[in-house]
This record gives sequence, structure tokens and C-alpha cells, in this order.
Amino acid sequence: RPALVTLGETMAVLACPEVGLLRQQRGLDLRVAGAESTVAIGAARLGLPSAWLGRVGADEFGELIRQTLAGAGVDVSGVGTDATAPTGLMIKERRTAEVTRVSYRRAGSAGSQLCQEDVDPELVAGAAVLHVSGITPALSESAREAVRAAVRMANHAGVPVAVDINHRETLWSAAHAVADYRWLVEHAQIVFATETEAGLLVDDADTMDSSGLARALGELGPGEVLLKRGARGATACVAGETYEAPRYQVRALDPVGAGDGFAAGYLAERVRGGSIADRLRIAAAVGAFAVTVAGDWEGLPTRAELDLLTSPDVAR
Ligand code: ATP
Repeated sequence: RPALVTLGETMAVLACPEVGLLRQQRGLDLRVAGAESTVAIGAARLGLPSAWLGRVGADEFGELIRQTLAGAGVDVSGVGTDATAPTGLMIKERRTAEVTRVSYRRAGSAGSQLCQEDVDPELVAGAAVLHVSGITPALSESAREAVRAAVRMANHAGVPVAVDINHRETLWSAAHAVADYRWLVEHAQIVFATETEAGLLVDDADTMDSSGLARALGELGPGEVLLKRGARGATACVAGETYEAPRYQVRALDPVGAGDGFAAGYLAERVRGGSIADRLRIAAAVGAFAVTVAGDWEGLPTRAELDLLTSPDVAR
């Protein structure tokens, strides 16, 4: 049965292959994206049985999501089909060679209709870790209740809860979101955040270095904080001790998905019983793999592929 259980919204992506406006494209790439399902794919690639819970529409995009996740080895037996709402869409334009513009058709989507009844208590209680993100409570009141119900089930069953803050300005303002983030952080054992996201929760964050910020976030409750710093690496605070993740050097093509890959690597190695150093090494390697390709999850590595990356910080 799945060791990692996650829930959220997965969308179909219409991605422009050429630089320029969507209307000038000759064709679009059809892909699949969702923060939490990317974590499930990443963990599954590393060999950890993983499940994603969510809703898709009764349409071709929904079938695409279901088949893509199943094909990547993710358990989709808990995925519901919404009879009335369509699968959400993400539109990705390469507005310039450097700037990607993302827009959504996701208000009222099937994924946002997620509710408490979609969360199987046995699946959650039988997991080794539950992973949720701060995106889901932004989608709807019922999606927020679904996340809280899943977290409470895990807390009750003694299953560690991992939260990625994953602030999305296009969905809600930080001022609006912060109470939900605080609730999640206070109910989680493991928190993933960028420095900006940590700054939403910690007073005087701009006076702190990354170790201080990770420690301050940990003081809100979670025993494990992973502060992600893009190509500059990551800082962890575990039981009050701080650690630096190694930095891998890769050519970054698309930064999106690095955070989800990092979470997948960390959680997969944590469930395996790996040391903090090993968790950080694998998390950083998976995050680095994620930025090397255009899609969010397509470039995520198997365990055997992890050694393909070299780092000035890591002895091979
Ligand atoms: P996302 O864009 O998916 O939301 P994020 O902001 O949550 O990402 P990042 O800090 O960008 O998270 O990336 C997570 C981790 O992935 C980093 O801490 C680092 O270990 C690794 N990583 C990210 N970008 C790079 C890069 N350009 N080169 C090497 N490693 C990277």
C-alpha cells in the first residue's frame, strides 16, 4: 500500500513551444502539472509506493491526468471523476526566451471541488507520510476542509505530515493566505518553504540569515524545516540543528518543479530511514534534475540516475 499519500489539484497544461504569444503558435504541447502529484511521481521514481488523491473532470483532460500519473507509477485508485466540473487548465506562454507567463482556467474546476469525503481515512492512516500543500486551501472552502481533514486524520494516526507552503499569488494574496499557512505549519512535522514564504510566517525575517530563518520557522511547531533557496541550495533545521544541502550544478531550463522534486527526494529518503545528510543530498539532486527540462516532473530521476549529477560540494 502507498507509503506516501498526497492530495491536491492536477491540471492539463497547454504549453507554447515557441517564444511569443499563444495566438502565434502553430501547435501546443499537451502536458500534465500539479504540485502534489509531481511529488508523488518523484517519490515513485525513487521507488517509494505513492498515491495521489484528487478530482478530475469527466473529459479527455481528466483521462490524460489519470493515465499519465498511473503510467508514472502513482496509485490513482482514490482519484474521483467529477460529473459536472471540467478539468482545470494551465496555459504556459514563453513570452520571452527568459520569461514564462502562466495563466489558469481553474476557477470552478473539478480539482477545486475536492472535499472531505474524497479523503480515504484508511489510506492516510496506513501511510508513512502525508504530503499536502498551501495551494489546496486556496482552491475552495471544500478543498480547504479536505486538506484539514486529511491532516487531522494523519495527526490522529501518528502519520507524519509534510507541508509545502507553495504560495501562489495568482490564487490569493499573502495577507489572505497566511492564517491557513500557519494552521498547516502548526499541524505538520515537516515543512518546505522558500525564504519568501518563511518570511510570511516569521517576524523580522529580513534580519535573519537562512539558518536563523529555518530555526525560527521550526519554532512554530515542525521538527523539520527545509528552506529552499533555488540554485543557492537549501538550509534545513531538524530538531533545532541546522544543515546545508549540497548544490548541484546543472543548466537550468525551467525552474518550476524544483521545489516539488526536492520534497519528493527528501520524503522518499526519509521514509527509507536515510540520514539527514542523505535526505538533503537526494532532495537537492532531484530538485536539480527537475530544472533541466521544460516540464515539472518529466525530468525526475530514478535512484540509479542520481549519481549522474556531480557537485563541487559533494565527493563522488
Ligand atoms: P518551484 O519553482 O518548483 O516552486 P521552489 O521555489 O519551491 O521551486 P527552489 O528553491 O527553486 O524551490 O528549488 C528547490 C531546490 O531544488 C533547491 O533548494 C535546490 O536544492 C534545487 N535547485 C533549484 N534550482 C536549482 C538550480 N538552478 N540548480 C541546481 N539546483 C537547483
